[in-house]
Amino acid sequence: MKPIHEALAEVLPAFRPRGVERVSLLEAAGRVLATAPRARVDLPPFDNSAMDGYAARAADLAGASPEAPVTLPVVGESRAGGDAPAALPPGSAMRIFTGAVMPAGADAVVMQEDTERAGDAVAIKVAPSAGRHVRARASDLAAGAELCAGVVLGPGELGLLASQHHAQVSVYRRPRVAILSTGDELLEVSDAPQPGKIVNSNAYALAAQVREAGGEPWILPNCGDRLDAIVELVRAGLRADVLLSVGGVSVGEYDLMSQAFAQAGVTQGFWKVAIKPGKPLSFGVKDEVPVIGLPGNPVSAMVTFEVFVRPGIRQMLGDPQPFRAHGRVRLAHDHRHRTGRTELARARLSRVEGELVADLRRLQGSGSLPSMVGVDAYVVLAADQEAFAADARLPALFVREQAGSPSHPWS
Ligand code: AMP
Ligand code: MG
Repeated sequence: MKPIHEALAEVLPAFRPRGVERVSLLEAAGRVLATAPRARVDLPPFDNSAMDGYAARAADLAGASPEAPVTLPVVGESRAGGDAPAALPPGSAMRIFTGAVMPAGADAVVMQEDTERAGDAVAIKVAPSAGRHVRARASDLAAGAELCAGVVLGPGELGLLASQHHAQVSVYRRPRVAILSTGDELLEVSDAPQPGKIVNSNAYALAAQVREAGGEPWILPNCGDRLDAIVELVRAGLRADVLLSVGGVSVGEYDLMSQAFAQAGVTQGFWKVAIKPGKPLSFGVKDEVPVIGLPGNPVSAMVTFEVFVRPGIRQMLGDPQPFRAHGRVRLAHDHRHRTGRTELARARLSRVEGELVADLRRLQGSGSLPSMVGVDAYVVLAADQEAFAADARLPALFVREQAGSPSHPWS
């Protein structure tokens, strides 16, 4: 049985970006640029005022104070989006508003609060230094600079790209991920309950995981435990960018996935990983398509997806940091597990005196769907250790962004 890190090292190189597409900025959130565009304009594009007030020459205001204000004639105004202002004659001021073009000759803005207007003149009560309250052209960014390479596009990046007149950008394509569920016992979610049958819940859980990771799920029709039918669906699923099968990978007589993969021409890699839940997990490749056989037990399927498939999908999207955050958490109670495999124990987290405390759910069975509700993290229980004492600090994989911090920091 392969340890997790070895299996992951084998799986990840198979997940490579599969092409590039141009999308509008609205669709670009969460994606990564395949080619970084360049700034088209300086930012700011022109010298402009950071305040509502008066543009002037700093030299004309030397020594101005509340006790001895300097009074200047006001010669017109410059407002955001208005006509280009005329040049400012020496010894005068111009009314100006935030974002408006600075008139030639002016080198400072005095904020309105430090002035008193009287008819065509303004009394100025401070002596600004040159450049005060002026946003100088190109002080943030110069035209030609490369933008947003190698980061996941979020609000800040998208705002910057928009400021640079890039209505569309080239990003790595979302991988289409086929989900093939096998088992004679499977019903559709809309079917009525039937004796001996269960709903194919994995398709829904996995589709949600694929989507959360940034991929596009493609749920194939449920397939019974018949080799020829499975082979046919494997062939169909290989038209996707990634093929996930679920169920049929253990050692039972009806576990047909490895035969089906072989018949469909998938080159088989490993078949078992020392992970709990989820030991039977197969990995192979057909042409460029990674093929992962997930175990059928719902918790095993979700946990193995989390460990082996999610980082792969992130990698296909070009994410330079394809892994979730991890960190140490404090165990709330004593805990034991069977040695031999690294266990990912479902946990809810709470924050106690600044530290994340993990409550391992009581139900840790690999088929227990209710135990997956509200999971914040998987606590990693080492394969060679049987007992874990309360207060032990253990590594954990955080699967929820807000894990343990449901409040805001303003109190
Ligand atoms: P298998 O890996 O096919 O041996 O299945 C292991 C367990 O997972 C069995 O109890 C199956 O009934 C269950 N199972 C398999 N596939 C699914 C599925 N798509 N949805 C829910 N449970 C499943
Ligand atoms: Mg089965």
